[in-house]
Amino acid sequence: MYINISFFGRKKRHLSPSHSKTYATANRRRTAGRPDSFSKHDLLLFKRMRWITGSLALTILLICTVFSFQKTPAACRAEDLIPPAAAVAATDAAAVSEKTVYLTFDDGPSQNTASILDTLKEAGVPATFFVVSAENNEEFLPLLERTLAEGHCIGLHSCTHDYRKIYANTDAFWADIDALREKLQPYCGDASYPVLRFPGGSSNTVSHKYGGSGLMEELIRQAREQGYAVVDWNVTAEDSVGGNPSAATIASRVIRGCKEQNTAIVLMHDSSTNQATAEALPTIIRWLQENSYRFDTVDHLPQD
Ligand SMILES: [Zn+2]
Repeated sequence: MYINISFFGRKKRHLSPSHSKTYATANRRRTAGRPDSFSKHDLLLFKRMRWITGSLALTILLICTVFSFQKTPAACRAEDLIPPAAAVAATDAAAVSEKTVYLTFDDGPSQNTASILDTLKEAGVPATFFVVSAENNEEFLPLLERTLAEGHCIGLHSCTHDYRKIYANTDAFWADIDALREKLQPYCGDASYPVLRFPGGSSNTVSHKYGGSGLMEELIRQAREQGYAVVDWNVTAEDSVGGNPSAATIASRVIRGCKEQNTAIVLMHDSSTNQATAEALPTIIRWLQENSYRFDTVDHLPQD
């Protein structure tokens, strides 16, 4: 890095206009005392020859520079070709912290899933889908095959998503998860599901009403015992709280939330009513890419 900077620095100094001006002044001084036998024409010819020689030297220097770049290892090439100042800035930013975003979609698959997958594929980024299998979305379950094939992570959410049933007690919750796994089997085969997101989040209070205030603590303990990573979020699109937010509103909420996080776990929804979320996704991804976020799936989150 620093070698490149000093290399560019030397080149700049050698070719700088101020240096050329000094060089021309020195020439005028040198030619001032020449015998009159040199005609103006000879002097002009002499200057032109010197200009041609200088240009040839510069061309040779440029060719040598190009060859030296070609010998640079592939891993460094892109870095070498960007302006040195930008390269230093990028290195410093990486040294301070790497920004990572985990896009997550709950409550799918649905009629919006194909559009979400298209957007992710076009952008070349992965995401995580916390799925359900209720009566109204079973026809979209075959999309999970494509979801897995395109490198996304599938996490467990709930079969019925019915708080009253799943949070009645711990047995009821795991029976619901077993039913979900069974529904997924034809499309996901023996895929493992390393991550789980509780409906309402792991600190929800709605469960207190049905299973008591200690239920979530017990469920979290049991989930970890079974090898699941329990994943919540720290950024929300607020796209399932009613009011039908527009795509622009959803995008600005997610972007505002991500600005405050170096590790952003973004909660969005993929149910039949979340068309605006699918529409907001290209804007969200573009902003994250422009702001140097790395995209990953939540099964790669560091565990505490
Ligand atoms: Zn949900």
